[in-house]
Amino acid sequence: MSTLDAQLMANWMADLHGVIDVNAKMLTDLDRQIGDADHGSNMARGMKAVAALDAGNFDSAAAYLKKVGMTLVSTVGGAAGPLYGTFLLRFASALPADGELTANQFAVALSAGIDGVKARGKAEEGDKTLVDTLEPALRAFEEAASGGSDLADSLSAAASAAAEGRDATIPLIARKGRASYLGDRSRDHQDPGATSMAMVIESAARTLS
Ligand code: ADP
Ligand code: MG
Repeated sequence: MSTLDAQLMANWMADLHGVIDVNAKMLTDLDRQIGDADHGSNMARGMKAVAALDAGNFDSAAAYLKKVGMTLVSTVGGAAGPLYGTFLLRFASALPADGELTANQFAVALSAGIDGVKARGKAEEGDKTLVDTLEPALRAFEEAASGGSDLADSLSAAASAAAEGRDATIPLIARKGRASYLGDRSRDHQDPGATSMAMVIESAARTLS
């Protein structure tokens, strides 16, 4: 079991900051193929601002993550900033009060975050966006948790499914966002937002349990 508090969430964000930094060039290169070559720099700028937040100034996991969401909205820009921000704001709002974090509570928060992203961006699974990472991750998480897996095992199932969902964007034709302007030419490229979102889930699996 993990103790839910601002510091636990800050550990997640610190890990993610490192991963985004190391992969910023790769993310930008993916965005160069089907977008405007800024996804890595957008995300790195946002995570740098997040890393400057002090978890000690927040009295709950939810309060800290709401600030993270607002920070991403105001620093990442592009399509991804508001989507990432909404994801974390809605995720935070669905978290219970600080205490032990269970798999079921995490599933509820993840599901709320995804609902927020879909409401904001109007993308469904198969549109070649970060939703293609999130939906399989949630399904795998819920399947594991309902089968009795704890938070750690459910997160690791979600991380594997997130990576598969990311890879499954390669043959898709984009129907949302900048890549959709390319039509058929968006095929055979991995979606940058699906790629960064897989890092978010993988990072959660490393840090939250
Ligand atoms: P921009 O496209 O404005 O340059 P980024 O490059 O930072 O923004 O982010 C692009 C990513 O945002 C895409 O790879 C895709 O995953 C995601 N995205 C774009 N539009 C949507 C949408 N409507 N719903 C969900 N995700 C989207
Ligand atoms: Mg871009």
